[in-house]
Amino acid sequence: MKHQVAVVGGGVVGAALALALHRAGIDTALIERGAAPKPYDASDYDLRVYALSPASTRFLNELGVWPRIAQQRASAYQGMRIWDERPGEALQFEASALGVAQLGHIVENSLLLDELWKALASVPTYTKVQITGLQLDDDAARLQLDDGREISASLVIAADGADSQLRDWAGIECVRWSYPQEAVVCHVETELPHRGVARQRFLPGGPLAFLPLTDGRSSIVWSAQDAEDLLELDEDEFRARLALALQNELGAITGCTRRVAFPLRLLHAQDYALPRFALAGDAAHVVHPLAGQGVNLGLADAVVMVRELSAAREAGRDLGSLRLLKRYERERKADNLDMLAVTDGLNRAFGLRTDSWDSLRNLGISAVNRMTPLKNLLMRRAVG
Ligand SMILES: Cc1cc2nc3c(=O)[nH]c(=O)nc-3n(C[C@H](O)[C@H](O)[C@H](O)COP(=O)(O)OP(=O)(O)OC[C@H]3O[C@@H](n4cnc5c(N)ncnc54)[C@H](O)[C@@H]3O)c2cc1C
Repeated sequence: MKHQVAVVGGGVVGAALALALHRAGIDTALIERGAAPKPYDASDYDLRVYALSPASTRFLNELGVWPRIAQQRASAYQGMRIWDERPGEALQFEASALGVAQLGHIVENSLLLDELWKALASVPTYTKVQITGLQLDDDAARLQLDDGREISASLVIAADGADSQLRDWAGIECVRWSYPQEAVVCHVETELPHRGVARQRFLPGGPLAFLPLTDGRSSIVWSAQDAEDLLELDEDEFRARLALALQNELGAITGCTRRVAFPLRLLHAQDYALPRFALAGDAAHVVHPLAGQGVNLGLADAVVMVRELSAAREAGRDLGSLRLLKRYERERKADNLDMLAVTDGLNRAFGLRTDSWDSLRNLGISAVNRMTPLKNLLMRRAVG
């Protein structure tokens, strides 16, 4: 089976990338080890939600999937508040002040995946297959499948997530570490309305985010060193702890779904490209969720990759050429490293209340000053 490009991994990034390449007239195949996603079930509000930036929704709109997503369930948010000790010292910003209709949208992973995969109907997809080998030859990249088939392409793009097998096979090294935190995620009902404002408070153990949902509830991401304890608390105790942690900004927590926890880590691949091979999405970079940017960075990778490959195709150039892929790498690395540095730095400066926190405080660096890089970054993304 021969294609111009083979994308491995049908998560949000891989699916969007394969669709965009196909729409650009590039013969693309998508290979996913799991099954195609289940049809979206609106009665079950997915616990995995993303804060999509305007640039991401623009890309999804160009792919024709955004109108269907927005029609089903997407929660626009117009304001953001970030603080640590004293709510009075919060950094806040409003969409109207930035001249935009909203700062972003909260969207469920299951809805995004379902709509992207529906749109992929005319793209060759290989599901429920294991890749057993990767060969990067001068003339083509080759993927061996466990059912004996082989897929060859001018370029293989690994969008197979943070634990990318293909990245390891290609011999690409990564900088990585695990945070001494896990993220506890659930949806909660609150006594007071969220009024379309995303909130984040930096606590000693890590940041706590409240993202506004369409049905009036909030989705929380609580990065905590004692995540296991938070999971084990009975519901009443958990709700009380949560309300206190948000300094009762939304009053009492009156309801709560089941809670799940995700390990948190930072990862950055030293190379995003080799001849006939490239990385995209979490396979290339994993950031702390405190700025809610993981999927946005992956979709931005896809936008740049499609632009470069479309230009190469029009000029009749080889889509697997290292020169072309290095241009993609240069552009995306700069942006991704910016986000990695800000999120990692902030998590340390606020979360780990050790000597470094005290010394920042002793140096007179106020919370507001420490949060300013995050605010600037999020504001740029909101208008970008
Ligand atoms: C608690 C938490 C909250 C988050 N909140 C946000 C947020 O608000 N906003 C945001 O933008 N991001 C957020 N993120 C980050 C986001 O979840 C990731 O950045 C995103 O899922 C990465 O997408 P991806 O498609 O690159 O990888 P994945 O979603 O990991 O998809 C990889 C795909 O590849 C497939 N695959 C893996 N190996 C193979 C193989 N060998 N062969 C074939 N297929 C394979 C997998 O089955 C999967 O379908 C959050 C993350 C966490 C942990």
